[in-house]
Amino acid sequence: MPWAQMLTNKYLTPARLRGETRNQTASCIWRACKVGGIVFNKGLKWSIANGDKVCLWNDFWLPSGPLRNLIEGPLAEGENWLSVKSFLANMERISFILPHRIVQEIRGIPAVADPNQEDVLVWDFSKDGSFSLKSAYLIAKGFNILNLETSPHQWVWKASTSRRIKFFLWLCTHHSVPTKEVLGSRGLNLDPTCELCGESPESILHTLRDCKVAKSVWKDLGIEEGKLEFFGLNLDVWLKNKCGMTSMYPRPRVPWKILFPQVVWTLWLHRNKAIFQTGKIEEGTSACCIKKGVEFYAIVPNGPNKPRRTQVQVRCLKPPSGWTKLNTDGSVLGNPMKAGGGGLLRCSNGEWLAGFTHKLGNMSSTVAELWALKDGLNMAKQLGIDNICVEMDAEFIVFLVSSPSVVNLMLEPLLTDCRNLIKTFPNHTMTHVFREANGCADCLARMGAALNHDFDVHLLYNPPDVVVDLLAIEKAGTAYCNRLIVS
Ligand SMILES: [Zn+2]
Repeated sequence: MPWAQMLTNKYLTPARLRGETRNQTASCIWRACKVGGIVFNKGLKWSIANGDKVCLWNDFWLPSGPLRNLIEGPLAEGENWLSVKSFLANMERISFILPHRIVQEIRGIPAVADPNQEDVLVWDFSKDGSFSLKSAYLIAKGFNILNLETSPHQWVWKASTSRRIKFFLWLCTHHSVPTKEVLGSRGLNLDPTCELCGESPESILHTLRDCKVAKSVWKDLGIEEGKLEFFGLNLDVWLKNKCGMTSMYPRPRVPWKILFPQVVWTLWLHRNKAIFQTGKIEEGTSACCIKKGVEFYAIVPNGPNKPRRTQVQVRCLKPPSGWTKLNTDGSVLGNPMKAGGGGLLRCSNGEWLAGFTHKLGNMSSTVAELWALKDGLNMAKQLGIDNICVEMDAEFIVFLVSSPSVVNLMLEPLLTDCRNLIKTFPNHTMTHVFREANGCADCLARMGAALNHDFDVHLLYNPPDVVVDLLAIEKAGTAYCNRLIVS
């Protein structure tokens, strides 16, 4: 972009980078870039390909953060600038004994097939590694974006209501609804008394719950005045608690968590209408809220009109004559996490050809799935197979591997390896199957995860005990199980 180039040429000069011109003036855009740059750097992580560009100790390339922050004490001479590449070539060469957990994380970094593939910088706070302004904003605000529950008002966006009402609730939790009390606290000189009842200051809680106008609506809906678990709570707790209620309003049946935000919003609207337009509160506020609540309940997913589900028979199908079928699966079990991959090749009569199981390091299940796919394709390659149909139960991976234009830096370099590998088969297909039809691969992946020390791919020339029975059932082709799918 031209403007980015202009800024780079103007400000990223050697003199400026050395700090010689520290107190020179800068445009406000550049000053903002410098502030944003700190946040940007926090989210940048290396995705390792050949490991050449990345500094072992100081760069951020492991899930837990820069290695130097995870260990204490001085490094041996010459170790400071060691690259990840030279470290991975010989992990024994460093003077530290790394903790088991970190070793497992390092083992979870896939080795790249092409030694010339360069490491890339990715944005660590998104699913596909691309930068997102939203996550950067949250980091700048000091939220732990890996665990957004630390932000106290996140529940608002999950409330069972329309976007407009969610936004209103968000304003309430940030004390930004323009009631007289809020306006007064911002320096406006006005009488804070509620215009409808004239009894108390017009706070947010007063308008939505404690004003006699609001109380009569709540009473219509069956909430008795003075009920402590309703009228005794402060604003934040009251909103959060009541938007999460699991009980139902009885007649007509509407979940309270849908009805409540509707009432709060309608109270606010009717109040404004009375004060600024009509001079009196409309009749039938509670009936109006119930009507809107019922409407909303009817259209939301999981409401009374749930999507129709139909039953389908799921069975493991044999490949066409002359084709070989590869099923793979990845599995992540337990705490601390144990990941494994597994898969098997079958000929067109359903007979076992070969299989593998692989203990993997610490990683997400998506990475384990991809890793297993790569192992399985490599195995098929070694066996000289030409016509291969690949089946996996991870729909997302099937989509990614078969859509070369979709970029996902987080899953590199495995994704590129898999895309390249599958192309080397003269005839290939790749399909998603339901978990029930991928049972043998699942057993082998679990077996891999449960292995103790070994870290290499175990090739299995004969089916292990864990899959023998299932294999025979699938070969016979008679068994199936039923699954409900959304139609
Ligand atoms: Zn009032």
